[in-house]
Amino acid sequence: MAVTTVTSPRRADALRQTIAPFLRFFTGAYDKLEKDPDTANFAVGNPHEFAMPGYVDALRDNLEPRNKDWYAYKLSEPEATSVVARTMSELTGLDWDPLDVNMTNGGFAALAVSLRTLLEPTDEAVFLSPPWFFYEQLIVAADATPVRVKLELPDCPIDTALIEPAITPRTKLLILNSPHNPSGRVVSLDELNALAELLTRKSNEYGHPIYIVSDEPYRRIVFDDRAFHSPAEVYPNTIVTYSYGKQLLAPGMRIGYFTWPPNMPNREKLRDDAFVTQFAAGYSFPNADLQHALAEIEPQCISIAALEARRTKLIGAMREMGFETTWPQGTFYVMARSPLADDEAFAAILARHKVLVLPGTVVEVPGWFRISLTASDKMVDDGIEGFRAAFNEARAGA
Ligand code: PMP
Repeated sequence: MAVTTVTSPRRADALRQTIAPFLRFFTGAYDKLEKDPDTANFAVGNPHEFAMPGYVDALRDNLEPRNKDWYAYKLSEPEATSVVARTMSELTGLDWDPLDVNMTNGGFAALAVSLRTLLEPTDEAVFLSPPWFFYEQLIVAADATPVRVKLELPDCPIDTALIEPAITPRTKLLILNSPHNPSGRVVSLDELNALAELLTRKSNEYGHPIYIVSDEPYRRIVFDDRAFHSPAEVYPNTIVTYSYGKQLLAPGMRIGYFTWPPNMPNREKLRDDAFVTQFAAGYSFPNADLQHALAEIEPQCISIAALEARRTKLIGAMREMGFETTWPQGTFYVMARSPLADDEAFAAILARHKVLVLPGTVVEVPGWFRISLTASDKMVDDGIEGFRAAFNEARAGA
């Protein structure tokens, strides 16, 4: 008798459901408009200009093999983990251990492996809404239960009174994202201290640690000389996840890491658990060339002044037109209130005026839309006129 295998669609269905608005947008309007060279594209944090020459030089310098092992299988290589440990020591004032650094192919994998390392099927993982699109999916993929806490829009302060009711005896971790996509908010040290106090109290009450997974890929993208603080400075049970995709604006080059501070309890066990999980997550280590180049890459960052200038120009103009907007402290993103209650309908009007934005529904903020400041200066100039025309059209129709 012939053997037939039937693929169960259930896992994919559950994953699909967690990102349904994302799929609706990116397989619909986005796909067509993104390819039109006349579109002012503010939809996602993608580059619209050539990569930084210094970055390309660093890659080129490290492409030529220097020994037979240059392109052999790589794990978290000491030449890369030592660079990260130095950066984390400078950031936190703690004496970071390179052995606690796990190199990954991007922030995506850093999150996926961290969650799979920590979460059991009976666990709950708290995430804060508006979230990055994929938190819920990554929690579901780790077989745990996502628990959503809605923050107060549009500025999204970290309010422990909102978070406390979501913490139960099953809570294993909370995902914190600062600087925050999409609000652009940088979480303050006072807020981190209050969160640390809450989670310490709850960990003691329930008799097990509740971790913070601190998703910090926009750590270098802060405006007005603002200081960034990581929860790792005040809460030892923190796992930091990072991606170089933002500081280099090169998200197609996959390198990042997850790591924890030297005062993390039971860190040797965590190292072992993370290591085996990284294999099970499909050998999620970065490519050899990126690890070789990391020492040269680490100091490089896209122009913060250019992002600040676009923020001033575009948001200044939009506010004059009558848009209500955030004024980001960091990240690539600005949130603006849609003049129509239906943000997807307003995004469609904008699209007719050759302006591409992300409808707020995709990031759990209906009635708003998100703009990325990674657009080119020309797109900002063209986009201002498109925003004006769409705003007037929506107002006239309303
Ligand atoms: N976290 C947040 C908050 C993000 O915005 C992103 C990327 N948009 C990621 C994680 C993942 O970063 P990467 O694609 O570079 O892995």
